[in-house]
Amino acid sequence: MNVHEYQGKEILRKYGVTTPRGIAAFSVDEAVSAAEELGGKVWVVKAQIHAGGRGKGGGVKVAKSIDEVREFADAILGMQLVTHQTGPEGKEVKRLYIEEGADIADELYIGALVDRETQKVVLMCSSEGGMDIETVAEETPEKILKIYIDPTDGLNRREAEEVCAKIGIPDEAVAQGADFLEGLYQAFVGSDASLAEINPLIVTGDKQVIALDAKFNIDSNALFRQKEILEYRDLDEEDPDEIEASKWGLSYISLDGDIGCLVNGAGLAMATMDIIKLYGGEPANFLDVGGGANKEQVTEAFKIMLKNPNVKGILVNIFGGIMQCDVIAAGVVAAAQEVGLSVPLVVRLEGTNVERGRQILDDSDVKLQTATTMADAAEKIVAAVKA
Ligand code: ADP
Ligand code: MG
Repeated sequence: MNVHEYQGKEILRKYGVTTPRGIAAFSVDEAVSAAEELGGKVWVVKAQIHAGGRGKGGGVKVAKSIDEVREFADAILGMQLVTHQTGPEGKEVKRLYIEEGADIADELYIGALVDRETQKVVLMCSSEGGMDIETVAEETPEKILKIYIDPTDGLNRREAEEVCAKIGIPDEAVAQGADFLEGLYQAFVGSDASLAEINPLIVTGDKQVIALDAKFNIDSNALFRQKEILEYRDLDEEDPDEIEASKWGLSYISLDGDIGCLVNGAGLAMATMDIIKLYGGEPANFLDVGGGANKEQVTEAFKIMLKNPNVKGILVNIFGGIMQCDVIAAGVVAAAQEVGLSVPLVVRLEGTNVERGRQILDDSDVKLQTATTMADAAEKIVAAVKA
């Protein structure tokens, strides 16, 4: 789950990481009152969407008067903000963050993530802040320094200080930089994050080390023990079909292809997408109906898949373990009838009560093809969609 910048900064503050003062605003009037409450002479009006690159897209503006705060808030709120992470359609801005203007002497980069290879948290540190870190990684990888943290030992203080000095934090602020890394590491672990990125981390004119941006990605599997972070969830930022699916206990992720897949079990769903691609097709979604889906869930799954205008065919691939093939077959038939299915449908069933399941499919008047193996199923649906 992603959170907004201002929420990420709330997490950081809890772990003692310094951020500028700021107030979230949902209207132009709230933005103006926020600026008045913050005081000072310079404010930054920042669009809050779950995507980076807002500055370049016109979603971050420095205001030098309250009138400018009003003007920028009015311009940014409601705009369709396009960044390299939003796709060409952009994202509507519904929230703002009004922050005190910082005196930036240097912009650096710090990111925390889990390194699967070493099974450790790694801090990526670079002097090249404010830029797209992917570009830095590609063009000047030597400018990214990594600190691997052993979970039992924690962050090594000396190593942290050395890296801070190497990325250009001035001597008098190195200790503060190391505190920053420690705080970020604690925030990362404490919030069950899978990514925490501070871009930029700044050194101010008076040598303070501050997080100017914050991007947190929280591991959804840990949200059961992150009640406060769960409150940060912003449904406006999520795919409406994925939200609808989760209400029905379906795991659904929309993708770019044209073959809808309805599968039970995440592993089988992944394998199904792989084999579709192997036969030259492109999956339109990942959909796991779970171990014990009923007729209602299968019907909802069909409805959600068919809402996607790109879907030109559907492949149902079910292994009847706990789930019985005859139950799923009846569900597929009922669902296809209810939604008035108009695209080709290929059904592959295997496992418990498979004979009865196939019989139900054969006896129904729903237009479908049955398949025996996964390869057979993939070949048939790809051919049907291409026809
Ligand atoms: P994004 O990464 O989405 O573009 P940032 O929060 O990183 O958004 O802001 C983009 C740039 O705007 C920063 O690199 C910085 O130069 C400037 N900026 C952001 N917040 C402030 C602030 N509080 N004071 C001064 N400049 C800021
Ligand atoms: Mg940024």
